[in-house]
Amino acid sequence: MKISKIQKFGGTSVGSAARMKHVAGLIDDGDTKIIVLSAMSGTTNSLVEIANSVRTERVSPLLAHLKQTYIQMVSELHKTPESIEKSTRFVDSVFEHLNHLVQKTYSPIVEKEILAQGELLSTHLFTHYLQEKNVDCKLIPALDFMHVNEHGEPVFDRIDADLTKIINQNPTQKLFITQGFICLNHNAEIDNLQRGGSDYTASIIGSIVNADEIQIWTDIDGMHNNDPRLVEGTKPVRNLQFEEAAELAYFGAKILHPTCILPAKEKNIKVRLLNTMQPTAEGTTISNEVSHSGIVAIAAKDGITSIKIKSGRMLLAYGFLREVFQIFEDFQTPIDLITTSEVGVSVTIDNNKHLNEIKQKLEKCGTVFVEKNMTIICVVGQIPSDTIGIQSKVLQAFQDIPIRMVSYGGSNYNISFIVRSEDKIKALQKLHNTLFL
Ligand code: ADP
Ligand code: ASP
Ligand code: MG
Repeated sequence: MKISKIQKFGGTSVGSAARMKHVAGLIDDGDTKIIVLSAMSGTTNSLVEIANSVRTERVSPLLAHLKQTYIQMVSELHKTPESIEKSTRFVDSVFEHLNHLVQKTYSPIVEKEILAQGELLSTHLFTHYLQEKNVDCKLIPALDFMHVNEHGEPVFDRIDADLTKIINQNPTQKLFITQGFICLNHNAEIDNLQRGGSDYTASIIGSIVNADEIQIWTDIDGMHNNDPRLVEGTKPVRNLQFEEAAELAYFGAKILHPTCILPAKEKNIKVRLLNTMQPTAEGTTISNEVSHSGIVAIAAKDGITSIKIKSGRMLLAYGFLREVFQIFEDFQTPIDLITTSEVGVSVTIDNNKHLNEIKQKLEKCGTVFVEKNMTIICVVGQIPSDTIGIQSKVLQAFQDIPIRMVSYGGSNYNISFIVRSEDKIKALQKLHNTLFL
């Protein structure tokens, strides 16, 4: 049977009983589909706090508070005593399990099992609500088919085999519901696809069932041309190419998880970003088509560390860059941006876990300067190498903002700048005014 749509609803879209009821109305169009749900907004953050408080006296009040939210939610969600009882029983069982987990010593695996309860709660309660309304639906546990390998990457063959089997066992079912974010790792332990990873679940499933489209429903009318939380006057972008969307997501546009573009792009499945609160708004369509030229949007990513390695012998000595990159590889630390000159190389990273060790090793290659609290500002669009005018316009916006690094020419889709985080909002607003107003 052909699954035509994947519809993923994020935390705010299912953040209350009223919102869940609204989503139930949105999905009711008779298409064959898989619904992917996140945890209710706030729940994953609370569960992180609970996981970080295991075996302390803080943990009981945290659990009690979160449970109260769900008890209240259940009473608002259902009409019939049978449904209330069914959902209450489920909530009780989840919190009983959480009570057991918080007695364990902290470990990343314990934390992941605690975090998984958020998506289990939202999907079960939503399914119970649909059943109460006599909607024919089937909850398919993500833990029955979503597998990642030892690097945390999806194992497509296994997911395909297991998911296809489940779908084939339910040949007449048109509406499936599953959890975003959660999965099983190579040791068959509960794991996840990183924070915000429900988008990734949706695109992995979409690519496996070869859906016609993957819809990401959230609380805003599509990808805006700048961060709406920081900049005034942002507007939704109607169409984005996969590459543009990937750059924007990777460099900070929170609306989309960066990993979720690739599976869709590989199968050429369009991704639509839609607004649960305003379902008729056009949103953003991400596909292979390009319907614009020039810059379409700007994004920013904080928490960047820049590392400059100065060495008089860089360009003369071949092998220098390999040595430098090897050190980052040895510590499994990806490099975001890179620029070089005759006397050295500057790179940026967003993971400081091994910064001290990396710095120590790099000192064998030259003098090392580290600066933390940097931000990447990324200007995205169609910027092929013969473009005239855009580059100088972009630079104009930085007239009174110090730029630490510039990266251009790596692809036809972006120009990236490193600035101090304290200059971020000013840079975003100035770029916005220069490029879009
Ligand atoms: P969900 O919980 O549905 O996954 P997210 O909070 O992950 O939603 O993503 C939606 C939020 O992303 C929006 O509320 C908005 O504040 C933020 N955001 C950041 N940059 C952008 C952008 N360029 N366009 C749209 N939204 C953005
Ligand atoms: N609930 C998870 C989180 O908050 C996954 C998601 O919402 O995409 O990160
Ligand atoms: Mg999200």
